Amino acid sequence: MPDNNPKTLFIASDHGGFALKEYIKENLKGRIQLKDLGTNSEDSVDYPDFAHLLAGQVAGLPEASGILICGTGIGMSITANRHRNIRAALVHDQFTARMAKEHNNANIIVLGGRVLEPAEALELVQIWLDSEYENGRHQRRLEKIENRNLNSTRDVSAPIDRVDPEISRLIRQETEREESKLIMIASENCVSQAVLEAQGSALTNKYAEGYPGKRYYGGCQFVDQVEQLAIDRACALFGAEHANVQPLSGSSANMAVYFSVLNPGDKILGMNLAHGGHLTHGAFVSFSGTHYQSCYYGVDQKSETLDYDVIEEIALREKPKLIVAGASSYSRTLDFPRFRAIADKIGAMVMVDIAHIAGLVVAGAHPSPVPYADFVTTTTHKTMRGPRGGMILCRKQYAARIDKAIFPGLQGGPLMHTIAGKAVAFKEATTPEFIATQKQTVTNAAFLASCLQKKGFRIVSGGTDNHLFLIDLSDLPVKGQSAEAALDRAGITINKNGIPFDPRTPTDPSGIRIGTPIASTRGMREAEMEIVADCISSVLKHPEDNSVITETRATVRDLCSRFPVYSYRL
Ligand SMILES: *Cc1c(COP(=O)(O)O)cnc(C)c1O
Repeated sequence: MPDNNPKTLFIASDHGGFALKEYIKENLKGRIQLKDLGTNSEDSVDYPDFAHLLAGQVAGLPEASGILICGTGIGMSITANRHRNIRAALVHDQFTARMAKEHNNANIIVLGGRVLEPAEALELVQIWLDSEYENGRHQRRLEKIENRNLNSTRDVSAPIDRVDPEISRLIRQETEREESKLIMIASENCVSQAVLEAQGSALTNKYAEGYPGKRYYGGCQFVDQVEQLAIDRACALFGAEHANVQPLSGSSANMAVYFSVLNPGDKILGMNLAHGGHLTHGAFVSFSGTHYQSCYYGVDQKSETLDYDVIEEIALREKPKLIVAGASSYSRTLDFPRFRAIADKIGAMVMVDIAHIAGLVVAGAHPSPVPYADFVTTTTHKTMRGPRGGMILCRKQYAARIDKAIFPGLQGGPLMHTIAGKAVAFKEATTPEFIATQKQTVTNAAFLASCLQKKGFRIVSGGTDNHLFLIDLSDLPVKGQSAEAALDRAGITINKNGIPFDPRTPTDPSGIRIGTPIASTRGMREAEMEIVADCISSVLKHPEDNSVITETRATVRDLCSRFPVYSYRL
């Protein structure tokens, strides 16, 4: 079945509706393909879990519909109707089944398993499926369900699916992609509903050039408090003396640090891009390589890990003004005290870029650089699980220079809705749930890497201490580009990635990068990583075998439906 089959029909029940669900499935088999979302036995369960699950799926897929069954149908219909764009109709007889479609265009039919005879219930489903929505005057009424402001000419409360169906459809399709595929891109994560709400709030309207209490615009009394909360929470979370939460991205955070303490032409020492460093650490295609003199350290060819004695030699020889630690595809723990000691030998400053590992640092799953670094930069959207953006932490002595580098140095008005999202994410990051998830992220990565090793794959550096690892495909027929494509077709999204000393080009490198943040945020653990290892292994060994791809896609889809990203969406 294609990803966006417009006729997708879901079915779900609780224990009270289980028998009827099985009966309906059995009798519709062959005519209509039903996607069963559970429950799978008569053991007692809670109906809202299944109603939310099904309603979320129906709301997220264009033209999908669903059948919900509980004892009376009442609880299921109350729950499903909490979802936007859901019209769940509890029907009792042929007339209400027909009207539910003709007048109300119900996209969910709800049945009482203890109210209806099975044959009768089946007939109601059939009537509902066969009936046609009349449209006309009913459409106005349906729109009034979702939108109470129809008479205004400036209809600001109209939902996006009315204002811009094209974009709305694409958002739904992207949401469905994120739900139904297992995203193992190491730099991605999925934020909470609370972060999404902050990001989608009226704060996007507000200009607030400057900093809390020192703005160049009026009306900042509330956004001042938002930004101050974000700053205070960031400082508390990382034990930092100062935080700037305005950087638009990880790259602009790094740029601001360079602008604050370096002059054009000054020397920076960063990790080689080809060994796992980031573009902004001195790569020649980035401002960091063109505006500054850059030199690099890399990993040892044999161990594929950093050799700090060699880094020290390079630092003593090159005498950079700033040493940058941090990486985008390095799977081992970074030794921050050693970076500090090396810098102190030549009087250099240290910037640590924890864009990838910030969440791990918060959870104590990776040592913190804060006591050792002059500057710590990060993105807020990777393991940190906040909105897309950046942040700078620094010692007090640099606070004024950093703030000036961001505004007015590099940016104009800050994105206050994003800063609100960052504040929410920082609050979430103090919860035991967040900390446990970060620890599980590391456990999952190590376990998945070891499962793949047992299947014969070579993991760069022999394993991982963090949330990611690289698979070296040199000895396989499939290489980075086709591995990425085949895995995506099978429902696992990763990225191709160079390995250290890669003889191949970045457009089709020898490796792929795999990360566990999203799988872990979704609640997956070792048992699921074992399934994922089987899937990755079969696809990499048979990348052109369509039956393997199809079978794997089904396995991944099933796995993903058991671990929803958003179990329901209001
Ligand atoms: C992702 C990343 C960045 C850049 O983040 P953007 O928000 O994409 O600009 C910077 N440094 C490192 C180490 C990264 O991995």
